[in-house]
Parts: sequence; C-alpha cells; structure tokens
Amino acid sequence: MSISDSQITLHPATAPKRMPANGKRFHIWTIGCQMNEADSAKVAAMLLEVGYRPTEEETEADIIVLNSCVVRQAAEDKVAGKLNALARLKREKPDMPLVLTGCMVTKQQEKLRERFPHVDLFFDPSDFGKLEAVVPELAELDDDLEQLPHYYLPNDTDARVSAYVPIIYGCNFLCSYCIVPYRRGKERSRPLLEIVEEVKRLVATGVRDVTLLGQTVNAYGHDLDEKKDLADLLYEVDKISGLDRLRFLTSHPKYMSNRIIDAMADLPSLCEHLNLPVQAGDNEVLRRMRRTYTTDLWLDRLAYARERMGDLTIATDIIVGFPGETEEQFEHTLDVLREAQCDKVHVAMYSPRPGTLSARWEDDIPHEEKHRRLNALEKQQEQINTDRNARRLGQTLEVLVDSKQKGRWTGRSRGNQLIHFDDDRDLLGKLVDVNITKTSPWFFLGEPTNEPR
Ligand code: SAM
Ligand code: SF4
Repeated sequence: MSISDSQITLHPATAPKRMPANGKRFHIWTIGCQMNEADSAKVAAMLLEVGYRPTEEETEADIIVLNSCVVRQAAEDKVAGKLNALARLKREKPDMPLVLTGCMVTKQQEKLRERFPHVDLFFDPSDFGKLEAVVPELAELDDDLEQLPHYYLPNDTDARVSAYVPIIYGCNFLCSYCIVPYRRGKERSRPLLEIVEEVKRLVATGVRDVTLLGQTVNAYGHDLDEKKDLADLLYEVDKISGLDRLRFLTSHPKYMSNRIIDAMADLPSLCEHLNLPVQAGDNEVLRRMRRTYTTDLWLDRLAYARERMGDLTIATDIIVGFPGETEEQFEHTLDVLREAQCDKVHVAMYSPRPGTLSARWEDDIPHEEKHRRLNALEKQQEQINTDRNARRLGQTLEVLVDSKQKGRWTGRSRGNQLIHFDDDRDLLGKLVDVNITKTSPWFFLGEPTNEPR
C-alpha cells in the first residue's frame, strides 16, 4: 500500500440524507495507507448519517478526527506535529471533540493520554462504535453501523465513482521491519456475503470502481470457516451489474496463487493491474526481512500474471537501507527491478519501528546513503517508465474520469495510469476511450475517441 496524507472532503451530492443537517461540521485529517482512507471514509459516512456536514477548515469544525499512521517515523512525527498544532484551537474551543484513531492508538492509549492531554477520545482503528462517546447522536445508528459502506470521498470537484472496501483486517506475517501486525492484530476476514452486499450498495449509489483492501489482501478467507479465498470473492463481486472496475491491494507474493491470477484474467471487471510488493531484490535481505520468499518466486508470479493477462501494469514497494544492506545487495535490487520492468515503484527509506525485530539491529546505513539509494532507484525507474510508457503512444486507453484539474479532465486507465485530456462536455464519472498523443514517465495526454459511457 502506498502511504500518503490527505484531507477528506465531500462532494455536496455525496451526503446521505438520513437525518437532516444539524448545523454541525466535521473535519477529518488522514495520513497513511488506503486502509486508513477507508476507515476515514466510514467515519465520514457515520457523521453524515447523523446530520453533520464536512468542512475543510479546522477552525469551523465542531469535531476533528485525525487518522494516524506509524509505519515510518516520519508519518508518526507528522501526526504529533498536527496534534500539537491543534492544542491552541482546542484551548479556544474546549467543547469541540478532538479525536485520534489509526495505528498510533492501538495499545498506546495511556502513553498518548499523557503526551496529548487535549485529545478527548482515542479509538482503535475500525472500532467505529467508540465514536459514540463524543457524538451521542450515533447511538441511533447502532443497528445500522455495520451496514454503512466505506465511501471513498474525493475532493469537491471529484465524482464519487471510486470506493475502497476493506475485506480483511490485520496481518499474520511478521516481517522484521513492520509494525502493522502489532497495531492491526491477526488476520480477520469479513464474511463474503457482507462484502458483496457492501459493493452492491456502493454501486447503487453510482460507484463504478472498487478496490478491495487488506494488508495481505490475498490471504482473504484463510481464517473463514467456509474456506473461501480471494478468487471466490472476486468471482462473486464481478457478477455485480454496474461495477466496471475491480482491483485489490496489497498482495503478498507467497499467496499470489495461480487461482487468483486466473480469476483476474477471466473476469471482465478485474483490472489488468497487479500490486505486488517485493521490498528487496536480494535474497539475503529478504531472508532478514522475514519475507518468506525469494526474488525468483516474485519474478515467477509476475511472469505468470503477464502470461495470463498480457498487457498488465505492475506496482511494487521497495525499502532501501535495511540494516546491513550492502552496496552489492542494493545493486541486486536494481538488477531485479530492471528485469521485472514494473510500471510503478514506491520506494521508502528504512525506518526502525520500536517493538519490531529489526529495531533491535543497528540502523547502520547513514541517512545520506539511504537517500542516495532511493534516488538511484527512482532514477532507474524513471527511465524504465519513459521507455515503457512511450510504447503507449497511439494506443487507446479507457479512462474513468474522476476529476478536473487545471481545466483538464483527469482519470485513470484500467492499468492505473494517470491520463489528462481536454473536452468541453461534462465527463465527471464517465468512461471515455482516449487516444494517447503524448507520454511521459508519470502521465499521458490524449484525445477522446468516442462517446462517453
Ligand atoms: N502488506 C504489504 C506488504 O506485504 O508488502 C505492505 C504493507 S506496509 C504497511 C506498506 C509499505 O510500507 C510497505 O510496502 C513497506 O515498503 C513500507 N514500510 C513498512 N515498514 C517500513 C519501515 N519500517 N521502514 C520503511 N518502510 C516501511
Ligand atoms: Fe507488514 Fe509484512 Fe504484514 Fe505487509 S506482510 S503488513 S509488510 S508484516
């Protein structure tokens, strides 16, 4: 999963109308992975249901919810900075609840209460019922809480056509650098029918593009009595009429079975896009990361996916500067990425996380050297993207238009490539075939070729 930070704002038309507006405003600030985006979307949906409306201005808010991330120290520092910056507003508006959720909170509430006494409520990720302590109106939602879909809430100018749907929480792996299992617990898959119902409800409200989420999304079902797996779920969700695009992230290479890849290849809504983090291109580093696979297994999974789907885009994650990573081992990562020819590489500098196994080892790669490796990797990837994307010139790609940026329509292809184009019509939320007229490492420009649908 990629780590980002964003503010949740709503298109006015997205507000469900269960209770009339009560004049109160909410502000949600989110940092971290797509799972946090989904959790924030659910909090927003709950507050909307009981009459709150969104605001982008913290100073106008009657409640502020911060959704935190601790995957890297930099994310944790940003959350702490945000909380400190809000202390003044809280002094001016003592009755305004300030709420903290996300991975920073789990098992840390006592410490956090001492460090941030101005926070009114801490609640564990996805434990939405706790919000009732500061929003008593939510008591009326008790029975319906589980039924509220995880709306993905884009900016004001965006169409609400995309949604994230968590399908499995937690993670059973123990990668030596990763704090997630300590904060999100063991794998818990949601019942298959509950997920199908949620997607149906989203599609009924106009969503056309759904991404199923999990820290190890392709472990889905391993813990369920009914012995279903992700492929079974994909077959069921694909049947939903009106759903144009289906994706899932993040997959673990070890569980990337032929069965799941075959389902991707066979099902029309499944996008030709695979997110499969490798983390390092050297087997000794992978062993110390406790990733439980070799680079050959990862490359083999990519090869099989390409064999079944042909024109497939691939995204991966890499950590540079893991403890003890030699120059030679880093070179192996560059080599493996050259061989793999991915379309997107999220690179992170290693950050020791308290409580994890690798935090006991010396963080021996200096910051400048981590930076150098990150830059070298990004530079190589820029060249790979330039070459790969140039091959798209003259091709027609289907774009799902999700916003207008600087006067240009913007959307994503089925392969998750960013595409901009000009058109006088209102195309928000539409599927448009676009002929690619200019390529770059990061985006395409093009011209629409037919009627939007
Ligand atoms: N479950 C996914 C997997 O198996 O790859 C990744 C989930 S993790 C929350 C998201 C990304 O954060 C990882 O792919 C990794 O690159 C990065 N990450 C996790 N722990 C990190 C750490 N200690 N330092 C730097 N990056 C880290
Ligand atoms: Fe973290 Fe590894 Fe689990 Fe991914 S698979 S969430 S990196 S422990």
